[in-house]
Amino acid sequence: MTTMRVMELPAVGAPLRPAERPVPEPGPGEVRLRVEACGVCGSDHFLQEGGFGPAIRMPVVPGHEAAGRVDAIGDGVTDWAVGDQAAIYYITTPPDDPWAAGGRPNVSPHVTRMGVDVDGAFAEYVVRPVESLVRPSGPVPPEVLAVLTDAVATPLHGLKRIARLQAGETLVVLGVGGLGSSAVQLGKAFGARVIAVTRSAAKQALARQLGADEVVAAADGDPVAAVRAHTRGLGAEVVIQLAADARADEQAIAMAGPAGRVVLIGAALEPFSVRAAEIFWRELAVLGSRGFVPDDIRDAIELYRAGTLDVRHLVQRVRPLAEANEALDDLVAGRVLRSILVP
Ligand SMILES: [Zn+2]
Repeated sequence: MTTMRVMELPAVGAPLRPAERPVPEPGPGEVRLRVEACGVCGSDHFLQEGGFGPAIRMPVVPGHEAAGRVDAIGDGVTDWAVGDQAAIYYITTPPDDPWAAGGRPNVSPHVTRMGVDVDGAFAEYVVRPVESLVRPSGPVPPEVLAVLTDAVATPLHGLKRIARLQAGETLVVLGVGGLGSSAVQLGKAFGARVIAVTRSAAKQALARQLGADEVVAAADGDPVAAVRAHTRGLGAEVVIQLAADARADEQAIAMAGPAGRVVLIGAALEPFSVRAAEIFWRELAVLGSRGFVPDDIRDAIELYRAGTLDVRHLVQRVRPLAEANEALDDLVAGRVLRSILVP
């Protein structure tokens, strides 16, 4: 039997370790992909810390932000050929799942997540059902295609499908990390005026470079007052909250103007508090946005190919698969927005 190299998580709180696994064989309706790039994301750290709960079977191979090339084809697959490039949607749902049928597989209670519930792409190969593949409309560098499947698709989902951000609106982006940096660019791509709010001077500079119209230093003074000053005292039409900080959840709600939409993505462990009148007086919509759907990946690919998105800051750090622990350390220490593993 031929084997492949993976990096697996043996237990909650443990470092990843190299391991060998049998090269998986595609079943009917499935293909095997040779993984060309896999992003290292905050949710890989969340998995390692036990954030997904005790039901996760260990050891598990993380890796959900991946792109690859079709390497072998299962029975009944006619529309994919060996060598085709694919972005991988990390979620699968059972046949006839009503949420998937309604275009929202991400919220199905029956999701199976690659890199969480089943082995992921910190590996040389993965087997996926063809429904979970997205074919780019033209060649895309593998490391770019990988980050488009999560670091870009997640804020795109929040802005386009959840908040329904419109051209001419003002968008506040709270937190300029891997997702927030994409949110700044996407806001501009959708024709909004973008106010970025972030603590570090380096991220303030990045937000400016990515096109933010205004940049607010979150640590200086009152960022809510600063956003109001940039919005004629009214607050913004849309606020997207990407910092894992309950105080930022409260600030996000306070930054929204009349009839504003507040999108919560940053996963703070602490609860936040707000008076109901804060929400109903301005008729705010406080919205959750969870991950993304395949159409978000397609949209991200099109924006990249049109030259509207610049993801160079997300793909600067490329490492071999064996350096997955170092990549996680870099992410947790804030030394990078993303690292890309190349098996
Ligand atoms: Zn992720």
